[in-house]
Parts: sequence; structure tokens; C-alpha cells
Amino acid sequence: MLTALVGLTFSVAAQDEGKDKIPLDHFYVTPRQGSNFIRRALRNFHFGIYTGAGRSYLSTSLSGFGIYQAPGVRPELFINSATVRYTNWINNAAGDNTAPGSYTVANAGNNVRFKGHALNIPLAATVHYEYKQFRIGGGYSYELMSLGTFRPTIMADKIADMQAASSTGLVRKYWGMIGYSFYRWNDYLFTGDLQVGNYKMKNNYNAAQVTASTYFNIGVTIERDLSEYLKVFVRPAFELKSYGLAVAGSGSSLSYSNNMLMVNIGFTYSIPQLPKCVIKQCRAQVDHHHGNREYRSRVHPFYKKQNPGYGENYPGLKKY
Ligand SMILES: [Zn+2]
Repeated sequence: MLTALVGLTFSVAAQDEGKDKIPLDHFYVTPRQGSNFIRRALRNFHFGIYTGAGRSYLSTSLSGFGIYQAPGVRPELFINSATVRYTNWINNAAGDNTAPGSYTVANAGNNVRFKGHALNIPLAATVHYEYKQFRIGGGYSYELMSLGTFRPTIMADKIADMQAASSTGLVRKYWGMIGYSFYRWNDYLFTGDLQVGNYKMKNNYNAAQVTASTYFNIGVTIERDLSEYLKVFVRPAFELKSYGLAVAGSGSSLSYSNNMLMVNIGFTYSIPQLPKCVIKQCRAQVDHHHGNREYRSRVHPFYKKQNPGYGENYPGLKKY
């Protein structure tokens, strides 16, 4: 009984801590915490943009198809007989019913592949949330994609190179991302991350024929702080994806692997936890109080590094 009573007294005392019965302090104010709730919740969100360059590695097997090669033109594909042949079989496979002229049929089927490259230039917007070493987020991007020449892997002396009739288009992507920061080296933070998303090749690809896979993109983000709020990063990455191209009117389709090596370069920005000081004449360089509110400096640019102890805006002595 006595123990319970003592325990109760202590717990009541503990609850009352910080709430004085009479105002012991009537001169100094307690900083308000609640007013910055939204900013405190937002401070771990990072908004980013990036660009960069990628090299796509495209490859298709011609399993189930024959190759029709008239002299001096692009190779066409056929299924049973060369009277119906297909042109533009990289991004918009259409039938060609012109009478066959002189040709060679490379009945190579499973053995021959066509391989080609593309140049990809992305422009992306991202947002992610950081909790300790973990991050989760997503993004949206458009990529300019320019298809190069496709070459046969065998019989290159008999089969000509293939070129898409329309080589340049846009790729639209959106994705979810998870990441984990695993290493720091001086100013550089290394984070491994995985994007899983959806992509669609527009403009030069015939959307009705293309079935694009889910894509997986794994990379390492190497970040450097420019300031408390602004970071610059590079991100080498590898992307795994593929697409199928239904050949119009044939019931058959070609499957392409469409992997990519890429390097992104960009910035992330986070909304400052503290509002900017509202007093026009205030020259304070570091976080400071006016009344019961805390503010960040109004003279320190958001993109410049600063020491939280004294600021680094004017590093020279005033007499110089
Ligand atoms: Zn101020």
C-alpha cells in the first residue's frame, strides 16, 4: 500500500515537471514548438531534378522469322512466305506486299540476333523521404531516346544493317524508389537505391504494337552537401527492361531486351525547418530567436554552406 502511494506521488510529480504552479520565470519566454509542425514534418522530404546520359543496349532474336534481304535495302522479315514481309520491325512493324525481287533468304531463325544502341537523355523530377539511413520516394521523367543502327550478329556480309524509319522519340517513366545510405567518405554520402517503374516509348514507337515490361533500375547515388538544404549528386545506374513488338497482322511478336547504362546528375532541395527571419534589418547569419520564435538567417543564401555556430557568409574581417 505504502509502496503504491509513494509510486503515485512520484508519478504525479513527474507529470508536473515543467508545469510550475506559479510562474517562476516571467521574464524569459519558452520557444514555441508547435508553430513549425508542418515545416518539421517536411524537412525530411527532398525534392530533386536531374538530367544525364544513358546508353541503351537493344537486342532481339529473330526466332520464328525469316530474313528477306534484297540488295541495297534494309532487311525485311517474313513468317511463312516472302510474299508478305515486314518493314520497320524495330518500332512499327508494317507489312510490305510488293512483289519480291531478287533476294537472299537467310533462314537463320534462332541463330541470328540484331543488336543496336540508343542514346538516352533524361529530365526527371523526384521526391523522397529520408528516415535515418533509409529513403523512400518516387519520380517522373521524360527521356529523349535516339535509336542507332542495328547490326546482325552473324552473316553481316549478307544481311544489311537495320535502321528504324523514325529514330528519335520520347520515353515516359514513373517509378517508386527505396534506398539505403551505406557509406560516407568526407563530404560524400553513398546511397544504394532501386527504382521499380513503368515506362512507355512514345512518338516513334507504335503504341498499339508495343508491350513494355516493368523496369528495374539499380544505382548508387553519391551526394555532396552544398548547404544544409541543397545537395548535388551523381548516380551511375543500370536498368533492366524489355519490350515486345507485335508484328501487325501476323499474330507474332518480336521481343527486345532494352537495358541501359546511365549516369544521372542533379540536385535535391529540402524545405528549411525554420521560417526566414521577418525583420528586414536583421543581419544575423545563423539560426536565432526573436521573442519566442526561432528563425533562420535572412542574409544567408540557401545554397551556401554555413557553420551553424557563426555562419560563413562574410569570412573576411571587417577591417579588410
Ligand atoms: Zn532575425
